[in-house]
Amino acid sequence: MMRNILILLGPPGAGKGSVGGELSAYLKVPIIASGDLLRENVRKAVSLGMKAKKYMDSGELVPDDIVIKMIGQKIAEPNCSKGFILDGFPRTLAQAEMLDGIKVEGDSFNVFYLKAEDDFLIKRLSKRRVCGNCGKIYHLVNLPPKREGICDICGGSLVQRKDDTEEVIRKRLEVYKDLTAPLLKYYRDKGYLHVIAGDISIDYMMNAIKKIMKW
Ligand code: AMP
Repeated sequence: MMRNILILLGPPGAGKGSVGGELSAYLKVPIIASGDLLRENVRKAVSLGMKAKKYMDSGELVPDDIVIKMIGQKIAEPNCSKGFILDGFPRTLAQAEMLDGIKVEGDSFNVFYLKAEDDFLIKRLSKRRVCGNCGKIYHLVNLPPKREGICDICGGSLVQRKDDTEEVIRKRLEVYKDLTAPLLKYYRDKGYLHVIAGDISIDYMMNAIKKIMKW
């Protein structure tokens, strides 16, 4: 059966998680967010999480073998049979090659590059808050919760991610440029890449994607 595979690529803070959540609701296909899955493993203090934590806290990438196995298992679940959205994966060439390996004839495959400059991303990320319970993403100025510190959706408490401090944000941007940005050429050469401005609004990105996909 044909799967609709959508990949959100871009630096931290470009809006992958926010757009991914909307796309998932719109298409009724699951979103697989590698960062969320890793954080869940850290919270549960299972072995995968213990291995991943030190990399995540310092803004480095978690080793490919760990992430590839984790994502491979998710993609193989029955709820992904019609398609899925990837947020934050692939982030290295090895991860992109793994994804090529699971593609089958007839799969639709599109990569959206959400593009934004460093200064913008640093500003946006330092004002980001997330619900500690359901993961919903807020911004203190652009998308504040109705009640300060409380999630509109589930009433959970909003927290600042440990890696959303300026120092770690800068490291994550550097890692993005070194290891993830080469994927832009990789996907452009294959004809899968669509470039979308990541510094306007979530609505803008959603509309741009809908237009490209002719939905
Ligand atoms: P994110 O929530 O996408 O910003 O990811 C948070 C952190 O999780 C990253 O800074 C990495 O340490 C780790 N991480 C998430 N996705 C990946 C991936 N595909 N490969 C390696 N590390 C990842």
